[in-house]
Amino acid sequence: MKKANTHLVLNCIIAEESITIEDVVKKTKLSRPTVVNIIKELTEKNIVFKSGFAEYTGGRLPTLLSLNANSYFAIGIDFEYPPIRMAISNLKGEVVLSQGITVDRSFSRNRIIEEMFEALERMIGESGIPMEQFIGIGIGLLGYLKANQGISLEILRIPEWKDVDFKKLVKERFGLPVYMQNDIHMMALAEKRLFLTDRADDFAYVGIRPGIRAGIGLAMHINGSFYGGVHGNAHLLGHMTIDINGEPCPCGSKGCLELMAGEPHVVARYKALLGDDPDAESIRGIRDIHARSLGGEAAASRILDEVGSYLGIGIANVVKLFGLTTVVIGGPDGELYYGLLRDHLKKNIFKNMSGELDIIVGRLEEEMYPLGSCFLVIDQYFKEPTLDL
Ligand SMILES: [Zn+2]
Repeated sequence: MKKANTHLVLNCIIAEESITIEDVVKKTKLSRPTVVNIIKELTEKNIVFKSGFAEYTGGRLPTLLSLNANSYFAIGIDFEYPPIRMAISNLKGEVVLSQGITVDRSFSRNRIIEEMFEALERMIGESGIPMEQFIGIGIGLLGYLKANQGISLEILRIPEWKDVDFKKLVKERFGLPVYMQNDIHMMALAEKRLFLTDRADDFAYVGIRPGIRAGIGLAMHINGSFYGGVHGNAHLLGHMTIDINGEPCPCGSKGCLELMAGEPHVVARYKALLGDDPDAESIRGIRDIHARSLGGEAAASRILDEVGSYLGIGIANVVKLFGLTTVVIGGPDGELYYGLLRDHLKKNIFKNMSGELDIIVGRLEEEMYPLGSCFLVIDQYFKEPTLDL
């Protein structure tokens, strides 16, 4: 009961930049002595501090209380593979430190996990923050999950990665609460908190990852929150069938969007078109093809138009299913993909829908990807009365 009351009071203080005790009493409907006691305790623990005085209205000046954002910290991980990005943020989601590693693709599953743990320990050490000031670790993970149980069922890119009890492993090593979600959902969460605060509440975030990962993911923000599906896997835009006669996909289906528009597949198709062109070897990604298209090369333009049409059709299906008016194109090449897919997307939905459709390029930078997982931890911290305050 006491913990629940403490969180009620805390949430009240967080919601405002600063607030008086009287207003906390009014908002929480708790008794004044209860609120005073809780605030005394929170102040002693340095979570809340007296930030000034409210306007004089007669009698004693009422003290203003504010959250001490640097009293506790969250750890966030963006587990893309092979890069793994990490960040430490304070309770307001301000990044204190961010680092990253790139694991070798020859590493075994256990070695990948060990490398990540060691990098995390190094970052915690360098931050100088004592372990007891961390409130949890959030992980944005690729592949197929059982998010609530913290189990990573499958990562296609790491063949021996099956049924990994990731949450348990991280918890055993670091002794902190661990939360897990799909990686694109975590990018979308960070994008929402940093850049979409005053935008439409219902939107689709399309996250396009580059390189060998080549993931095309989706996160849906509906009625004020992200929809994760039963196990947190409501994100498989990349495995939407676009061509029923297409190539078989490792997921078991055929002609998936990722096979049609994912970077390595596009590069391979383009190189096949180039034949024995000596420059073919230098083509590494979508940006190289884009540069050649800008230089006037017809084959490059044709390939890119195909990519735009596949992505446009895939995203148009999502827009039509959910009646959306906002779509965010995220990922490091968001701007480029926006240019490729914009017209195709508009063309593939009803005319009266397309006029209203707002397509935005995501602004989240790569080193900020793990921040979404920090927000996941912070949200849980303020939501659940489970902490030992
Ligand atoms: Zn597939």
